[in-house]
Amino acid sequence: MAVDIDAQDMTDEQRAICEMVRQFADEQIIPNAAHYDHEDEFPEPIVEQMRELGLFGVTIPEAYDGMGLDLSTYAMIVEELSRGWISISGIVNTHFIGSYLLMKFGSEEQKQRYLPRMATGEIRAAFSLSEPELGSDVQAIKTSAKQTEDGDYEINGQKMWVTNGLRSALVFTLVRTDPTAEPRHRGMTCFICEKEPGVSHNTGAHKGLDVPPQIRKMGYKGVESTELVFDGYRTPADSILGGEAAGLNKGFSQMMDALELGRVNVAARGVGIAQRALELALVYSQQRRAFGKPIAQHQAIQFKLADMATQVEAARLLTRRAARLKDAGERSDIEAGMAKLFASEAGRFCVEESLRIHGGYGYSKEYEIERLYRDAPLLLIGEGTSEIQRMVIGRKLLERHKI
Ligand SMILES: Cc1cc2nc3c(=O)[nH]c(=O)nc-3n(C[C@H](O)[C@H](O)[C@H](O)COP(=O)(O)OP(=O)(O)OC[C@H]3O[C@@H](n4cnc5c(N)ncnc54)[C@H](O)[C@@H]3O)c2cc1C
Repeated sequence: MAVDIDAQDMTDEQRAICEMVRQFADEQIIPNAAHYDHEDEFPEPIVEQMRELGLFGVTIPEAYDGMGLDLSTYAMIVEELSRGWISISGIVNTHFIGSYLLMKFGSEEQKQRYLPRMATGEIRAAFSLSEPELGSDVQAIKTSAKQTEDGDYEINGQKMWVTNGLRSALVFTLVRTDPTAEPRHRGMTCFICEKEPGVSHNTGAHKGLDVPPQIRKMGYKGVESTELVFDGYRTPADSILGGEAAGLNKGFSQMMDALELGRVNVAARGVGIAQRALELALVYSQQRRAFGKPIAQHQAIQFKLADMATQVEAARLLTRRAARLKDAGERSDIEAGMAKLFASEAGRFCVEESLRIHGGYGYSKEYEIERLYRDAPLLLIGEGTSEIQRMVIGRKLLERHKI
C-alpha cells in the first residue's frame, strides 16, 4: 500500500519527479530488493535505470549536463528511493556529496573534467573521512599526503567504511597535509583521488591504491563498504579540491560543509524507511486477525500506528525545512542536525514498531520488514551518530544564543 505522495509545499515539478521516482521504486526497487539483499549483490540493472532517469545528475547544474535541481527536490527523491531500499540511496548519496564538493569548491577545470561524466553516472564518486581508528573524531585522521620533488603528492594510510569504495572512479579523500598545524583541522586537505572503478588492485597511473574485499555487514547490503589502502599512491597537485593554491589545508571545512548537506540526505533516508515501515504495518495489521478481529482493531496496535505516522510526518517536516534553509543560503547547521537526529531515530522507531506488529512473521526473511530492521540502524551512525548530532546541536545553540 503506497500512501499518497505528500504534496504539501511541493511545486508541480517536484510532485511530477516524486511520482516518477515513487513508481520506479514500486516497480523496480521493491520487488527486487529482497533478491539483492539476500545475495548481497550489487543491483546493476536498477542502477542502469537510474542512470537513464538522470538520477546521478539531479543537483548538477544544467551547464554541466545535470538537471540543476535544488537540495529540497533532491531530498524528496532520496525519500522515495529509500522507501524502496536504502542501499539504492546509498549508491547516489556519496556521489551527490562528491558533486556538491566539486560545485562549491572545485576549480573550473575540475568541474569541466568530472561533472558532465558524473551527471550521466558514467563515473561515480565516493567520499572518505573515516579510518580504522576514527569516525566521529575526524580531526584525528592519520592518512597523510606529502609533496614529492616533482610537485605531486604521495598519499599513505588506511581508510575505512568507504561506501561505493570499489565501483567509484573518484574518491574525495580527507588527509593530513600539515602534521604540525594547530588547531589540527587547519592541516587537512581534500584530494580527488582517481582510481579504476571495480578494480581492487590499481596499477599504472593509479598504483598504490588497493581496495580490500568489501566489509560484511548486518544490513545495507548490495552497496559495497570497503577499506582503502594508500601505499605510495601518487596524485598531482591539481587533484587538490579547488586547486593547490585555494584548497591546500582547507579540506576539513570543505568536508564539514558537505556533511551538513549529507545530514539532510540521511534525514530523507530516515523518512523514507519510516514511511515504508508504516505502510507495511498498515497493510499487515488489517490482514492479520487475533482474538476474532483484525489486529488493527485492537487499540494498542492503533496507538503504534498513530505514533509511527506522527513520527514520519514530523521527520519529513524537519527534513524539508532544513533543505529549504540550505537552498535559501541560510544557516542550517542546527536544523540539519535536528533533521538527521530526529529522522534517523524515527526510522529506527517505526521499523521496530512495524516489526512488532508483524509478530513472528516480522522475524522471517519472507517479509520485507526483516530487511528494514537490519537496514535502519545504519542511519543512526553515518554522517555523524545521534550523540554527535546532539553535540553539534547543543554547541550551535549556545553559539546562537550567547549571553
Ligand atoms: C555502512 C557504513 C557506511 C559508511 N560509509 C562511510 C563513507 O562512505 N565514508 C566515511 O568516511 N565514513 C563512512 N562510514 C563511517 C561512519 O561515518 C562512522 O562509523 C561514524 O562516523 C562513527 O564513527 P565510528 O564508527 O568510528 O565510531 P566512534 O567515533 O568510535 O564512536 C563510537 C561511539 O562513541 C560515541 N562517541 C564518540 N565520540 C563521542 C563524544 N565526544 N561524546 C559522546 N559520544 C561519543 C559515538 O556516538 C558512538 O556511539 C560508514 C559507516 C557504516 C557503518
